[in-house]
Amino acid sequence: MGKHKPRPWPDPPNPLALPVIDNHTHLPVHEGEIPRADGVKMPLEEQLERARQVGVTRMISSACELPAFDPMLELARAHEGVRVALAIHPNEAALHAGFAEPSPDGLLPQVREYHVPLDEALSAVEERLSDPMVVAVGESGLDYFRTADPGREAQKESFRAHIEMAARHDLPLQIHDRDAHEDSIALLRECVRSDQRIVFHCFSGDAQMADILAENGWYASFAGPISYPANDNLRRAFAVLPPELVLVETDAPYLTPLPWRGCPNASYVMAYTVRFMAELWGISEQLACERLTENTERVYGSW
Ligand SMILES: [Zn+2]
Repeated sequence: MGKHKPRPWPDPPNPLALPVIDNHTHLPVHEGEIPRADGVKMPLEEQLERARQVGVTRMISSACELPAFDPMLELARAHEGVRVALAIHPNEAALHAGFAEPSPDGLLPQVREYHVPLDEALSAVEERLSDPMVVAVGESGLDYFRTADPGREAQKESFRAHIEMAARHDLPLQIHDRDAHEDSIALLRECVRSDQRIVFHCFSGDAQMADILAENGWYASFAGPISYPANDNLRRAFAVLPPELVLVETDAPYLTPLPWRGCPNASYVMAYTVRFMAELWGISEQLACERLTENTERVYGSW
């Protein structure tokens, strides 16, 4: 047995100067998804209460696997401040299309009963987009880290379909782009209408890519990794982005910011990221919160 380093839940940070919105997270929709740290579970109600206490009063929870769609909509109806983004995740798109090759990093994905044909899965997204709880399509995009070649065509097909759905329903689109910057941008340039609201969720590009986002008026949403020491590239991208195109998220339960990297994540932990961004901008925490909320509401509206 290896050495077990206990990974506790991050300490709750001091409340933020003003409320902010976590524009991309994954709230647990069933018992098995409730995250735990060092054996301690944090149920949904406690996550939401902690978030409220630090000033993360609203959040967008992404359901990107078919079985999570309806439970996530119910969750949002039952909890103030929660809204939903819906999509077929790019790695799921490959499975819906029947491609279950081992991923480049060696995992063997499994096709399950709910992996109906891709066009049916896409219809299941679109059918729900008029639900008043839905404020975005997402996350869709390309993931070349997890999906090998044959599945990538299915990801592209699914990505195109999501861009079109978002346009038809006048909803912003949250993009998952992992190791696929060039192709993601190429596909957006080809398909996206100029008035569409586009958000690169958990933005992972460099300054050059940030310039491309700026040229197109696309948004970059930053998560915990902007605080990691190795990510100078990300901080350079942050520095060149027009501040009005910057959003903040947790992508919880992953990607916990410093000083709690490696521990599980939840929306209340986002206060650390917000403070980190305020410092990078060289502005007050209050101004950073104002700016982030204004940007987030410009993209998704208010609730
Ligand atoms: Zn996500």
